Amino acid sequence: MKEKNGQRKAVVVTGGSRGLGQAIVQKLACSGCDVLFTYTQEPVEMPSGPSCLHAGRVLSMQADVRDASAAREVIQRACREFGGLDVLVNNAGITRDRSVAMMAESDWRDVLDVNLSGAFLYSQAAAKLLMRQMSGRIINISSISGVRGVSGQANYSAAKAGMIGLTKAMARELGPFNVTVNAVAPGYIETAMISHLTPPFKSKMMKQTPMGRFGCPEDVSGVVEFLASDAAGYVTGQIINVDGGLGI
Ligand code: NDP
Repeated sequence: MKEKNGQRKAVVVTGGSRGLGQAIVQKLACSGCDVLFTYTQEPVEMPSGPSCLHAGRVLSMQADVRDASAAREVIQRACREFGGLDVLVNNAGITRDRSVAMMAESDWRDVLDVNLSGAFLYSQAAAKLLMRQMSGRIINISSISGVRGVSGQANYSAAKAGMIGLTKAMARELGPFNVTVNAVAPGYIETAMISHLTPPFKSKMMKQTPMGRFGCPEDVSGVVEFLASDAAGYVTGQIINVDGGLGI
């Protein structure tokens, strides 16, 4: 995935150390992008760059998405190392599931801060740059939880629904500058985030999923690759469900 002038695209992915973020980093690097990803906890095994042909560079930086000055540093580092920024993927996310009646205020705030405010801070850090260059892509990883609302996830549903509003508002603001803003809303994807689900709950949700299975990280990274590509240049303000039909 190269720019018209032959340069590699420069990408920032928040939360790229594992799960969906890691699959997105590898997919975009394999398609020829240079990628800088963030994380907070040093993983046991830091994902290395992909071994595919013509892969781009992969760099990492420890940065909490809640930290506004770190967000600016991450964007600046990508510009310094890669010569600019073309794509921002707001992927970092957490869950702290509880019913509203039992939820600690800190669990409400943490989930809103990481999922929603983190996406805002990185988008803000990138926006002026993308507007000035009159090109760019912002891709927010929302969730089916934000589309439908999920019992026991009021904090997460609110944060992910907030990302949908953020996506649509930014699409309107940045459209005149040729910057597209879209969201991907995954259903259940096999990562650490859903490892706590019990087998009976999993089998109930799979039965409700027309495709009869949970997704894998690559199901999501392929859609992100499309949104980042030249083929999606006229797609903006969209929420693309990647959920095997669960949200129909
Ligand atoms: P994981 O828990 O596997 O990975 C989460 C990633 O986010 C890690 O790289 C983690 O890095 C990073 N992260 C968490 N908190 C912060 C923070 N404060 N600052 C920076 N990075 C942070 O989750 P998934 O891969 O499953 O989820 C990725 C995204 O997809 C999330 O936004 C999630 O809400 C969304 N999603 C996932 C679904 C699923 O079924 N798995 C379904 C729908 C949406 P570290 O550990 O170093 O902090």
